[in-house]
Amino acid sequence: MKRTAVAGLLVIALGACSSASTPSTTRVHGTSGSASGGDPYFPESGNSGYDVGHYDISLSYTPSHPEIRATAIITSRATTDLAAFNLDFVGLTIDRLTVDGAPAAFTRAEPELTVIPKRAIASGRPFVTKVEYHGVPQPVKDPSESAPAGASELGWTRNSDGRVFVVSEPIGSRTWYPSNDFPGDKARYDIKVDVPDTVAVASNGVLTRGPATQGRSTWHWNMAEPMATYLATVVIAPMREQQTQSPAGVKILNFFPDDIYDESVKDFAKTGAMIDYFSGLFGPYPFSAYGEVVISDQLGYALENQTMSIFASDMLGRDIEAEATVAHELAHQWFGDSVGIRRWSDIWLNEGFASYCEYLWRAHVDSSYDIDRAMAQLRAGSESHLSRPHDPGKEGLFSSATYLRGALTLHALRVTAGDDVFFRILKAWTVKYRDSTATTAEFIALANETTGRDLTTFFHNWLDTPQVPPLPTR
Ligand SMILES: [Zn+2]
Repeated sequence: MKRTAVAGLLVIALGACSSASTPSTTRVHGTSGSASGGDPYFPESGNSGYDVGHYDISLSYTPSHPEIRATAIITSRATTDLAAFNLDFVGLTIDRLTVDGAPAAFTRAEPELTVIPKRAIASGRPFVTKVEYHGVPQPVKDPSESAPAGASELGWTRNSDGRVFVVSEPIGSRTWYPSNDFPGDKARYDIKVDVPDTVAVASNGVLTRGPATQGRSTWHWNMAEPMATYLATVVIAPMREQQTQSPAGVKILNFFPDDIYDESVKDFAKTGAMIDYFSGLFGPYPFSAYGEVVISDQLGYALENQTMSIFASDMLGRDIEAEATVAHELAHQWFGDSVGIRRWSDIWLNEGFASYCEYLWRAHVDSSYDIDRAMAQLRAGSESHLSRPHDPGKEGLFSSATYLRGALTLHALRVTAGDDVFFRILKAWTVKYRDSTATTAEFIALANETTGRDLTTFFHNWLDTPQVPPLPTR
């Protein structure tokens, strides 16, 4: 995620599982899985008692009409004996709900959807929940913003002209599909969107297009690698595709609004070079393809949806700041998407890393750019507003502390460990936790192991104290 407020600060500084189910032979007296994923920032989000392996979401939409009609098939595995379990889901009307093919009872107290299957599910067993639903999705307010009245809206968002986009971080996914809505439960996805031929559909993964029938077609997107719920997206609008690739051959499929297509092509002209540069530093690009989608809205943010970063049009332009945003969202594909966070309190592992990558890119393309000097300037101007980046509190998730002090922390580690060892740590991180989730403690352990030193105090001072420590010098 990147918002203009944070970007402004930077400018100063820069200058699954199987769906088969067999009947239970032993009687299971399950308990209810918890209606919380256990994250203290958003205790009502996520659930426990099961682990989702795959979401198969089919939905139908026509821009002239706000309603969607959809089916979500969720393949999960019970992690405890379950007499009931919860999903997060708001607003839409459920027409039919089955578990392993049998109609299941359910109750709703938003955001909770409590499902009571006919027979309890034994711990360790796979089960398939199918939810058929319809209605007009309503975005939810971003709970990480301190002023609820003016807070941004998350989730399925429809413009008056019928265009749709989805930006969900942190908790917007529940507005368009029932989910275990917290970052600790990644899953694979198939997202199939049936629309008229007047619009295109951008989403996550690799695209297969169905044949057009009576002026409509289904855009089938397959996300083969596990993905956090908040990174699932759909953009429906009149858009033109740009198919290209990085110099080393990573496929790129971009979607730009018709009326700003040519400008957008220029805005993203360096993406391929960025992919290859970051691949050299962090290890191969972690997915089968990358893409960027632009929406014709002045929203002041961009988000690293997995394999399909989304940019509000006011985040773009051919200046240093816009280029930094393109690099930032791309870098998140390694840091935040492939290596995800398990808890929101570790958000600096996403934002600090993506922010530092903006500086790395700048130093790569401009030989006169002195990253040590830029970091020293950032550090000098940071005393008053950079609080702790680790566990910053719900309202600190997208504050400059997680972005900029996070970036400073990485630069301090680089100077302390030396360039070779520092980049070895980052590479080892993307290999060890690829397609998975990780924590700050795991990053510190890896840094200790790779450097052969005990950096516990170093990280404590950088991540957990009110005062920004002095930057070490080379
Ligand atoms: Zn970000």
